[in-house]
Amino acid sequence: MTDPTLISLEDVGKVFPMNSSLLRFMRGLPQSRVNALNGVTFEIRRGETVGIVGESGCGKSTLARCLVRLHDCDSGRIRFEGNDIAELEGANRRQFNRRVQMIFQDPYSSLNPRMRVRQILAEALSVHRMRPKAEIPARIAELLDTVRLPSDAADKFPHEFSGGQRQRIGIARALAVEPEVLVADELVSALDVSVQAQVVNLLLRLQTELGLTVVFVAHDLRLVRHISHRVVVMYLGRVVEIGPTERIFSAAAHPYTQALLAAAPEMDPRHRNTKPAARGELPSPLNLPPGCAFNTRCPLATGRCFTERPELRATEYGHMAACHLVDAHAVSA
Ligand code: SF4
Repeated sequence: MTDPTLISLEDVGKVFPMNSSLLRFMRGLPQSRVNALNGVTFEIRRGETVGIVGESGCGKSTLARCLVRLHDCDSGRIRFEGNDIAELEGANRRQFNRRVQMIFQDPYSSLNPRMRVRQILAEALSVHRMRPKAEIPARIAELLDTVRLPSDAADKFPHEFSGGQRQRIGIARALAVEPEVLVADELVSALDVSVQAQVVNLLLRLQTELGLTVVFVAHDLRLVRHISHRVVVMYLGRVVEIGPTERIFSAAAHPYTQALLAAAPEMDPRHRNTKPAARGELPSPLNLPPGCAFNTRCPLATGRCFTERPELRATEYGHMAACHLVDAHAVSA
């Protein structure tokens, strides 16, 4: 029987060194480091869409980049079908690179402006030898149809398309290599709301039709709810809540998730919510508070929250949250 777990993250950590100031250097102080990911552990199952949410700086984009090996983890490991991706070499590494594709927020910067769409897609098909040369034109037409772009799009340059159409080109390029996993990092954040819905619906259809596994990184909870089977909520490089989407939206147990939900924008742009996700500022990742990292902003913090870091544990609704008060303040919608 096929293992339902496709990707597992085990205690993943990622640290970025900061430019050291002259003063620190002269005082012999160690270089400052940002802990972008701290002990991230969860699994991604075959054929599911996992939404990863949190404010800017929570580590979600770093996590996305670690999943496709644009960054290597500094601690812990990420396994793909049981194999540590940091140890993949040669043909196995190339296969992994083909099977796990990333789609970026800004497709314009990742599409060569001097290449027509036909060349962009042909290049993707050639790199992994996906089709014999003679079949490439037909495959390009098929890919454009899959992402609902007209066939004459093949002869145009990226600048001739709207933002939403460029995202479709980026998706077509990713699909050219017949991946099993798409990692979408803030895929539609830069698009108008109506265009966002079109691109997200396209991703939903592709996920169902092609049986893709999708990691959907976003700060917009409406989109995450629409597309995801499960949601991972991150705060300052840690997972603070994880569970089935409707469970998270109806019975959020972590005060941070509750704050994110309270601040989530309405579908109707006339009723846009401008509330911040949580009171106060996000603490500097250079200087994380002891205990629960959310204690500086949490309205429910108690003494224990300032000394003891909460681990993920099961809520009364069966999903997981990292909060000392998890049983006391889980709420029902
Ligand atoms: Fe708030 Fe304490 Fe729970 Fe952290 S552990 S979210 S500070 S109540």
